[in-house]
Amino acid sequence: MDARIIRGATLPGNAAYEAVPADVVIEDERVVHVAPAGAADAGGRTVTEATGLLLLPGLVDIQVHFREPGTPEAEDVASGAAAAASGGMTAVVMMPNTTPPLDNVDIVRAVLRSGDSAPVEVHTSACITRGRAGEELVDVDALHAAGVRVFTDDGNSVMNARLMRQALRATTRLPGMVVSQHCEDESLVAGGAVNEGPVAERFQVGGRPAVAEEIIVARDIALAADTGGRYHVLHLSAAGSLEQVRRAKAAGLAVTCEVTPQHLVLTETAVERLGTHGKMNPPLRTDADVESLRMGLVDGTVDAVATDHAPHAPDRKAAPLADAPPGMLGVETAASVVWTHLVHPGIISAARAVEVLSSRPAAIVGLADHGGPITAGMTANLCLFDPAHRWTVAPEDMASRSRNDPFAGEELTGRAVLTLLRGTPTLDRL
Ligand SMILES: [Zn+2]
Repeated sequence: MDARIIRGATLPGNAAYEAVPADVVIEDERVVHVAPAGAADAGGRTVTEATGLLLLPGLVDIQVHFREPGTPEAEDVASGAAAAASGGMTAVVMMPNTTPPLDNVDIVRAVLRSGDSAPVEVHTSACITRGRAGEELVDVDALHAAGVRVFTDDGNSVMNARLMRQALRATTRLPGMVVSQHCEDESLVAGGAVNEGPVAERFQVGGRPAVAEEIIVARDIALAADTGGRYHVLHLSAAGSLEQVRRAKAAGLAVTCEVTPQHLVLTETAVERLGTHGKMNPPLRTDADVESLRMGLVDGTVDAVATDHAPHAPDRKAAPLADAPPGMLGVETAASVVWTHLVHPGIISAARAVEVLSSRPAAIVGLADHGGPITAGMTANLCLFDPAHRWTVAPEDMASRSRNDPFAGEELTGRAVLTLLRGTPTLDRL
């Protein structure tokens, strides 16, 4: 077992050590001692000098697409997990839109087995409907008994309100279960490639309007109120939807939401520069939407930053904008993008970044061993982060098997330098 002392890091979100550096002692997969820097004896342990660095609970990404089963050449569980560890993550939740989709216990177990020896904890969601076809509920009880907590037809919205109501009802009797929705009304986004508006017109492609998201969020919040169910909005993108989540929370409903780093940083005009690498669903939107999402991050309406890591092989992204598959890489850059664009400019604190990148997402999906706080007794799932580390995003150097990164070529400030999974290094840039 790894025995280690991390010396002199500060611990954002831990009031005692936010400003005062700490020594964090790790033994047998656990943090056994946290003390003011210099107070703990190395005692033959591996010493990691961490003055000037931040020690965070390992980051938790509750929306990743690893393409196993289906198209492992774009990303398999092993490559996706390696990419996540490289980004400072210790746990991920896979989305179920694999081929075939994760809609039964056998296939969920097979995917979890592929992740057994992965450098992050790999969890999966399961579909809400069989085959993600939107017609018949999966065996929610069996999947819950097999350990699944997140149910979603991600990639598609569940358009059938009766099924959505049944799924939300199930969350009231199955502990920890949450229904997560990809919110876009199919009749409004069919054939659309980018946000509806001037960019879609310029490229002469169909648009995906914000109202398509807003009406699904509105319907689902009404169903959450009706059933008392737990509801989570995946990759929320539009100001109007955020306002509805804000009101649902004020009304005391069990409603949470996440946003992606790209929706916090990029707008629809990125498509002009990035081409198909700027295409995702729901699409990048307007400056006003970005501004609203940032306010939601500040005021707590946004619970989590999740990446929607969506690898695609280069030849598939080489298609015309209307035909290329939607999605962007994310796990290797998420924390760096958040630090560069939100923490360093003073929009959110490092402690708030820890909440949205680790504590809250871990709580939403029920990962008790993740998300901190960093205290004696916690499982040593940790990320040592250098907020001053400057690096340029080079897709060819990444652990992902795909290259569709919207931040390629950008210089970012801040990077994970050591990731520990149950005390064992899964990334070491020191
Ligand atoms: Zn989605």
